[in-house]
Order: sequence, then C-alpha cells, then structure tokens
Amino acid sequence: MDKIVFATNNEHKLREIRAILHDETEVLSLSDIGCHTDIPETADTLEGNALIKAHYVYDNYGYDCFADDTGLEVEALDGKPGVRTARYAGDNQDSQANMRKLLREMKGKDNRNARFRTAIALILDGEEHLFSGEVRGTITTEPMGDKGFGYDPVFIPEDTGKTFAQLGEDVKNHISHRARAVAKLTEFLNK
Ligand code: IMP
Repeated sequence: MDKIVFATNNEHKLREIRAILHDETEVLSLSDIGCHTDIPETADTLEGNALIKAHYVYDNYGYDCFADDTGLEVEALDGKPGVRTARYAGDNQDSQANMRKLLREMKGKDNRNARFRTAIALILDGEEHLFSGEVRGTITTEPMGDKGFGYDPVFIPEDTGKTFAQLGEDVKNHISHRARAVAKLTEFLNK
C-alpha cells in the first residue's frame, strides 16, 4: 500500500481525505510519523506556507507529503486577512476575536465581497505540485449560525443566502474552498 503524509493533526481534515482517496493509499498524520513540531508558517503566500510544511516532512522524514493552507481574502480590505487569517487578531487570539476584528474593519463598507481560498502543496518523489480551490461569497454584518468553525458564521457562500455556520457540514463539504482543492489533489493522486 502507498503511504502519504498529510501534514496535519486535524482529525476532520484527515477523515475527509481518507474517505476520498482510493484504498491503496494510506494517509498518515503528523503524529502517525512521530512529528510533533509546530512547523513555522513564515511565507507570505498560502502556497508558500503549504510548501514549507510539505517540504519539512519530505526532507526530514522521507515521506511523500501534502499540506494545505487556507486564507480568507476580502476585497474591501485589499485581500486581507489572507495569509494571516488564523492570526488576524493576534498570535494568541481565537476565532471569536478574529471575527470581531473582521466585522470591525468592515464596518460601513458597501463592498462585502470575499473568498476563501485553499492552497495544497504536494511533494511526490521530490517534485512539487500545487492545487487550489476557492469559494466566493460575502461577509455579513454580524455572526449567524452555530455550526462549523473559524469564520463560518460571517461568510455567506454565493448562491446560498446562508452562512457556512447555518448551512452545516454536509452542504459545506460539497462547495467549500477546501473540498474543491482536495478534489483536484485526489483526482491527481487517483490517476
Ligand atoms: P488552515 O490553513 O486550515 O489552518 O486555516 C487557517 C485559518 O483559516 C483557520 O484558523 C480558520 O480561522 C480559517 N478557516 C480555514 N478554513 C475555514 C473554513 O472552512 N471556515 C471558516 N474559517 C476557516
């Protein structure tokens, strides 16, 4: 059986990818290979950060590996928070603080267009491959819904009229930025 590492310990992401990939590929997490390092994400693009994580595993552990990085890009904020999406309100802040900051920055702005974008970097036999997925939508003026995580309560994907946090996991997994990037990766790996 082929083995590939997904540079994450996020159980939700691992479950999702294991369900999609063919049975002949075993997907290992960072803890499965004994990697407990918090790999620093120091690049200024999503692709750059995904490449850092995938290379870290390939270079130090010798496994083929893929890694993802996601950002929320808001038009009226010139693409921010972008690569700083996870740490928008500061290094030790949580999603609530991130959302509060976003809504504050968006106060009074008419253009509420935004997109979530996921970049996936794959290192296979030493070669780099990049995949990306996005979902366009708008930023609300207040949080709505209690499902999901991160910025889900303030993001309405286009053509739905509801936030990700109102739509729930099943709908989200069909249309999300990550689902779209993962679909491109798995199509490539399953070939
Ligand atoms: P990561 O690269 O998957 O760790 O995502 C970076 C940050 O983007 C997370 O900390 C979340 O705040 C946010 N994020 C990523 N994916 C989603 C999503 O599907 N919904 C809402 N927020 C997300």
